[in-house]
Amino acid sequence: MLGALALAPVAAAIPAYGQKPFIYALKPERIADQIWVVRGDDAPIAMANGGAIANIGIIGTAEGAVLFDSGPSLRYGDALQSLATELTGKQVVRVYVSHLHPDHGFGLGAFPASVTTALPETIREIERDSPGFSDGMYRLLGDWMRGTEVKTPAQPLTPGVEVIGGRRLRTIALSGHSGADLCVVDDTSGVLFPGDLVFHNRAPATPEADFSKWRASLDALIGLSPVITVPGHGPVDSTGTAAIRQTRDWLEWLETSIGDAILRGLDMVEAGNMPIPDRFAGMAAARYELQRSISHFYPRMEAALLPRIDVSESATQ
Ligand SMILES: [Zn+2]
Repeated sequence: MLGALALAPVAAAIPAYGQKPFIYALKPERIADQIWVVRGDDAPIAMANGGAIANIGIIGTAEGAVLFDSGPSLRYGDALQSLATELTGKQVVRVYVSHLHPDHGFGLGAFPASVTTALPETIREIERDSPGFSDGMYRLLGDWMRGTEVKTPAQPLTPGVEVIGGRRLRTIALSGHSGADLCVVDDTSGVLFPGDLVFHNRAPATPEADFSKWRASLDALIGLSPVITVPGHGPVDSTGTAAIRQTRDWLEWLETSIGDAILRGLDMVEAGNMPIPDRFAGMAAARYELQRSISHFYPRMEAALLPRIDVSESATQ
């Protein structure tokens, strides 16, 4: 008995079998002068990746480091802050939050509120949805989330040009992946950070998607002629526009295919097993995201495509 008690503190300090030490090993990729990307895992949020699935941008300026997104948890935000300071030799002076999703904004607690900013609509969406996201993240990620609290970006951002430490950053308000999607372009390098409007070799996530707005946003991004595009998920696109076009192609195929499946009378399980075209064979998480998209879109597209004649007649009487 006493022996067991004496061992208890030691046993508690040793992670249980299979447990990770909950440390994010962030590996920056330099993509331009004073610009780095920390790549996310091209997989769904899971214990194995601690929710670190989104790409994060670090931009060095004479005034301090600028971050594009903050990662999925306080532990991640802390690691990101250390990395940004190490790379740039300066403190973080700006954190842009691209949109409401927790893999992009839940690391915000690591930074002073005064440096955090997002589009006003994103701030509203975070206030509305983050308690629910937080519950889901804690359940999925356990100890990775320790200490993480829901934080709302403090400064509503007016899109335009921000000059920080001599660096000219263009901020652009678009939408379609969510109700408000912030994009940032570094004018010196032509690097575009489009958040989750752009995925690359990783199937797009669509829980809040509006297909027509998303397509219009992608057209606007092509019009910017970026030199390098850092997608929200997937590898950096050094052609500038291939990832934007791939995202547009997937969304068009997805909307058409869901519509066809509904008109052919398939149920949601059958539709989720539909063949995925060969040109998307290299896309990570394609089947997973297709099935998620069907679960989001099927009921409302079914209601739109298969109207009840009695309901529509009575509505016009
Ligand atoms: Zn997202």
